[in-house]
This record gives sequence, C-alpha cells and structure tokens, in this order.
Amino acid sequence: MEPLVTTILSKHHVNLEALNNDHAQSVWNACLQIIKEHTNHQKFKSWFEPIRPLKLENDTLTIQVPTHFWYEWLEEQYYNLLRTTIAQVMGPQGKLEYSIVVEKSDTTDQHRAMNMPQRPLGPIKAQDLNSYVNQAPTEIKNPFIIPGLKKVKVDSNLNSNYVFERFIEGDCNRLARSAAMAVAENPGKSSFNPLFLYGGVGLGKTHLVQSIGNKIKQLYGEEKSVLYTTLESFTNEFIRSLQSNRASEFTMFYRHIDVLMVDDIQFLSGKEKTQDVFFHIFNTLHMEGKQIVLSSDRAPKDIPQVMERLISRFNWGLSADLQLPDYETRYAILERKAQDNGIQLPHEILEFIAHNFKSSVRDMEGAIVKLLAASTLQKFDEFDLTTAKRVLKDMIKDSKNHISIESIQTHVSEICGIDSNKLKEKTRKKEIVEARQIAMYLSKTMTKSSLKTIGLHFGGRDHSTVVHAIETVEHRMRTNARTQRMIRDLQNKIEVASL
Ligand code: ADP
Ligand code: MG
Repeated sequence: MEPLVTTILSKHHVNLEALNNDHAQSVWNACLQIIKEHTNHQKFKSWFEPIRPLKLENDTLTIQVPTHFWYEWLEEQYYNLLRTTIAQVMGPQGKLEYSIVVEKSDTTDQHRAMNMPQRPLGPIKAQDLNSYVNQAPTEIKNPFIIPGLKKVKVDSNLNSNYVFERFIEGDCNRLARSAAMAVAENPGKSSFNPLFLYGGVGLGKTHLVQSIGNKIKQLYGEEKSVLYTTLESFTNEFIRSLQSNRASEFTMFYRHIDVLMVDDIQFLSGKEKTQDVFFHIFNTLHMEGKQIVLSSDRAPKDIPQVMERLISRFNWGLSADLQLPDYETRYAILERKAQDNGIQLPHEILEFIAHNFKSSVRDMEGAIVKLLAASTLQKFDEFDLTTAKRVLKDMIKDSKNHISIESIQTHVSEICGIDSNKLKEKTRKKEIVEARQIAMYLSKTMTKSSLKTIGLHFGGRDHSTVVHAIETVEHRMRTNARTQRMIRDLQNKIEVASL
C-alpha cells in the first residue's frame, strides 16, 4: 500500500518550535472533529488522539505518529477517511505527511520509511466519507497498455513487509502456508491452480497472498509479471474501463500477467458483469499455465450469488483454510511482532495478550502497537503487567463484550442444521442434544455468563446439566479431531460475526 506521503524525523530532532505551530494544531483539530464522527469512540481514542500535529507548510500538514507500524495501520484502516477529511478541511490540494518517531538505533526502519513512494491526495467525491471503511486505497496503476507488447512492466502492488519469513507457522495455517510456498516456488506448475485461501478477518490471508508475490519476485525477478489486487480495485478499474469504452484493453492487460493474485474475492457476490469478465480472464490465464491465487473470507461454495461455473473453477486447484491460531501460535506471533517493533515484552505480558486476544492476529498487533504508543507518549520505560493491563483494558472489554449466547445459539443451530428453538426444548434427539451441548460449551468459553445464566438460556436447565455438557464436549474435542475442528470453526465464525 502506498502511503499518502511519508517523511521521517528522528526522535531526537523533533523541532519544538514546529510542535507549537498553532495553525497546524487548529487544522488538525478541525480534522479530528470530522474523524470523530466517523470512528467509534474507542478507536478514535486509541488511534487519533495520540497523534500530534507538527507543522503546516505548502498545503501539507505534518502529523507525528509514534511508530512506523502506527502509520501503516492508519494507512491500511483509515486511508480514505484521512484523505477525505484532509480534502474537506484543507481543500483538494491538501496533503498529509507523516513523521514517525524513530529510536536512534532503528536504522532499518528509518531506511524503509524514507524510501516510500510519495503520492498526492486524489480528487474527492462527497460520498467518499461514508464509504471509507475498508476500502482498498491502492488501485492498479495503469491497466491500459499497448496491445501486442509481450512483456509489460507491471506495478505488482506488493508490500515488502508481507513475506514468508515473517509469517509464523502453526497448526492453524500449516496447509495454507505450505501450499503458498509451493506455488511461490513453481508458479503455474503445481496442481494448486488456482490456490484458494480462505478464513476469517485478520487471520493472515493478505499476508500469505502477498508473500507469494514477494517470493516470486525474489526468485524470478523481471521474468514473471506479478500482480496483486483486490476484487474491489479490480471491479473499480473494470467499471472505469467500461465508462471509457476500454473494456477490451482492460481484459487484454490481464492476459500479460504471469501471476495474478486477487484478494477478498468474496466481493464478487452479486456483481454479474465483474464475474463475467473475471471468468474470461481466469480461463485465459489458466489455459496458458499462469498462476492464479485467490483469497476469500469463506469457502468457494459459501460465497453467495456467484455463478456456478466460476465457483467450480475456484475448486479446480487447492482450497486451504486459515483457522484461528491456538495459544502457542498466538504467543509466537506476538513475540515476533514485538521483536519486529523493536521492543522486548516480558513473558507475562505476552501471555496476557495471547490469552485475551483470540479472534484475530490483527487485533494482537493492535495491542502491541498500543503498548508501544503508550510507552512513547506516556513516557514509561518499563513494561510491566499492571501497566499493560491498564493500557489494554478498553480493547479487551471491547472484544469480549459483544458475543451473546443468542448469537452462539444461532451459529450452532445453523451449522448443525436445526431450528434454534430446539436448543431450548426438552427433546432428547441425539443431534439436538449434541448441538445443545456444543452451544452450552461455547457459551461458557466465549462469554462471561455464569452456569446459571447459561442454563436459563437453554430452556431453564440447571447448572449441573451445563457442567455435564461442557465436560462432554471437552472430552469429545480431545478424542475426535472432527469435533475439534468443527468447534474451532464455530468459534472463528462467532468471533468474526461479533467484530
Ligand atoms: P486477513 O487478510 O486474513 O484479514 P492479514 O493478512 O491482513 O489478514 O493479517 C492481519 C495482520 O496479522 C497482518 O499484519 C499480518 O502480518 C498478521 N498476521 C496474520 N497471521 C500471521 C502469522 N501467522 N504470522 C505473522 N503475522 C501474521
Ligand atoms: Mg485481507
């Protein structure tokens, strides 16, 4: 992803005069007003309040963020919001520049940030503000090439941070990771074509897909043209080509790609014309032995409103899912992320985060960033567990609060194919008893409800019935891999649904 504009200042060279620049402060305050209206309270507090405006010069507002990671997070999550806000407050010529506080020793990070490409803010439309969430900010640079040219230089759209070396392996992602590796080593040559990676939000799909691209670039250089895009960019670019009567050039462009990676393909749902054009591109590439990599938040068969022939093609190669990481993997990822951010966190803090952030790796990263930010801004040097708990309190409350017994019941009955009311009735039919036990187990492990409350939600059963259910499910999970997998899957779904 390209930043709006980035520069870097050393922590030790922050200009105090610039810090007191009143004008910058008032412009930033105006921005904050708008941002506040478009983010929830906690996110606003965590991500925007700690930012300091540094200066305003030549239509460029410079803001200071605590870490490189922080800047990446803003760019990833809030690019469109920032873009539209700056345009509203400063006019279309307004630019935003980040200044990242860098520790003296952190030269690699400094180097990386300095080499970032610069990009002015694009034109703004009024509706942008309401649709900023999760929009993919980068788009394919120039899909229109002169037909007939064999090798085109394609901007691959790759983020160099997403590499295999930084992807921690665990039971939850082993198959996906090794398939991705195989594809990267031999693009188009394995039977994994397409490679279809799927799983919940924040579980590493984009990271893996991008790792494939980066690895191929590393192994094959200019020999292979690699393109990473999101279905959303693909769609936007397609619509634009239709508007300018250049649809055939659009298709032509993709024919020159050796490795096509399309992220978040579930957004094909209901877009008939995009499905059509994608279908043709898919066929052409596949026939010519080009590699296709797709990601989705669910399995091919579960993507609604997508034409059958496309779904069947998605199943031609290999589908591999990414599951929620278990405790040990979460711990390893955290250790690695802390290290990448240049901090060492004591064991009990890593343990605390690993225990409390279960639903997405992205949230765990958020926790680390928040700790880092707190240490920079509130100036404490020692990370101890009490401080960590205090700093992360809001994030944890947030992630546990919104899972309800009702939502667990809905998910369980859906997976088991029964009416959710049956969970509350007295029936002793085997499949209903099983579903009820699973729902009780999940209610105990995923909410803070007491045994009594849980019993009441299942037709007024007493707490010993709930205890028995929990023990039965725990036993089955230990002895039956299928049950274990199903329950992990359910946890994943319930947690994702509650985000
Ligand atoms: P998704 O595309 O599935 O929503 P991402 O690939 O964007 O998720 O992952 C979210 C964040 O979590 C990224 O910063 C990524 O680097 C990190 N992440 C996810 N899984 C792993 C892993 N196994 N090892 C290291 N980092 C991971
Ligand atoms: Mg993603």
